[in-house]
Amino acid sequence: MKSRKLSSDPVVTGQCLCGAVQFEMEYPAFWAWHDHSRASRLAHGAVYATYVGTWRKRFSITAGEREINRFEEKETGEVRSFCRRCGTPLIYERTRSRHMINIPRALFQSRTGRQPIYHIAIEEMQDWVYAGEPLVPLKGYPGVFYKRSKKRSRVQEARRSESIRWRCS
Ligand SMILES: [Zn+2]
Repeated sequence: MKSRKLSSDPVVTGQCLCGAVQFEMEYPAFWAWHDHSRASRLAHGAVYATYVGTWRKRFSITAGEREINRFEEKETGEVRSFCRRCGTPLIYERTRSRHMINIPRALFQSRTGRQPIYHIAIEEMQDWVYAGEPLVPLKGYPGVFYKRSKKRSRVQEARRSESIRWRCS
């Protein structure tokens, strides 16, 4: 990804964790999506990755180009770039769309002009994903919240069916 002058469109900026790599993208992005595939899950070390996709020509590295390493997946030919100092995933180049690049949404400091309303490989979604269930604070551990076990509701369910059986007999 060569540094180059972008057009006069407004830009949004982003960076890796250590700050060595800085970049900018013309606003708005083309689209944004959640990727549940195994490869992205492992590359990010997270339950899924959220990307912002844009045209290659609308993206530019503004600092730290020499800190970027590339990893090419042998089987797919897809390329993932990351900061060699801090390991932050930076750019995901998919073989099916060579003129587009994908940048992790989390690296942008501001809005990108697109909400991640799309999902790829949704059939691979993990059962340990947090899907917004209600949480309660964990006693004795400030700042820790958890999803209450369903055990109680199963007990209630058992009692309910018990009482139904009692009424029916
Ligand atoms: Zn870095």
